[in-house]
Amino acid sequence: MKSPDSPSLDPFVAAVDVIGDAWTFLITREAFFGASKFDEFASGLKISSSRLAERLKHLVALGLFERKQYQASPPRFEYRFTSRGFGVYSIALSMIAWGQKWRSAESDVELVHASCGQPIVPKYVCRECGEEIRLEDLKWPPIIPRNQALADETSVRGWRKLPDVMSVATRKDPATEVLKVAGDRWSMLIMYGALQRAFRFREAHAKLGIAHNILSLRLKALVSEGLLEREDAGRQAPYRATQAGKDLLSSVLVTRTWALDHLVDADRPWNQIIHEPCGVDLRVDIQCTHCGEVITPQNVIPKLKS
Ligand SMILES: [Zn+2]
Ligand SMILES: [Zn+2]
Repeated sequence: MKSPDSPSLDPFVAAVDVIGDAWTFLITREAFFGASKFDEFASGLKISSSRLAERLKHLVALGLFERKQYQASPPRFEYRFTSRGFGVYSIALSMIAWGQKWRSAESDVELVHASCGQPIVPKYVCRECGEEIRLEDLKWPPIIPRNQALADETSVRGWRKLPDVMSVATRKDPATEVLKVAGDRWSMLIMYGALQRAFRFREAHAKLGIAHNILSLRLKALVSEGLLEREDAGRQAPYRATQAGKDLLSSVLVTRTWALDHLVDADRPWNQIIHEPCGVDLRVDIQCTHCGEVITPQNVIPKLKS
């Protein structure tokens, strides 16, 4: 896999290749709410047993969960987060915040910061200099590399956009709003590109290596969801991110930071996003707006609303 000639890895693309599928988030979320046994996952999701079993197996293979036997006869197993898996919840936190802001989505759950007892309102800061992240302070890598799996054997096969995330999750949560609009690999990669600059259809086609018809459908959906906009509908009119689209920056950067913390091999060069105020490759921390402490998934308390 590793060769000196291999191109720089893009951590965001690598993360999307590993976790960019709505099921990963939905199952991870159930674990965060306390599910560890098969039936507990099954009760939070409208999913067939065979698909759930297949997904859990896959999440174990990705190193997000560990599987431990808790009963000998008949054999029963439980699934517990590894630190890599726990880290995925930071991504969900950023999606929840986006859903609350842009969709004023209802939630069955309130997330409370254990340190200060306040509901979580995240603020995204540079781990190096502590400054709040602003799009205009970032220097992006030159290109989005195409078809770049971190490790082929761990990439999720059979990407697909869920027809309606709400129909598979029994819990209401604003994060599902993000999954609904951009919860598939292509939409995530398109939005990643759009954060960097406006682009034309043929550029996205050439860079992402995505089939015309699929690209066209994804772009149409992203426009109708209000994440992308165009000045006119002509073939050459560029697509650019709307303010709602630009606000996905925090989710993108948190996802990329998760990849840097948990996935990338330090020996392999990766695409850097330079935070201009400090000149360092950006890693983002989520800070509590109320008390200023860095939020870790371990000190978030999910409170189910009755
Ligand atoms: Zn900085
Ligand atoms: Zn706090």
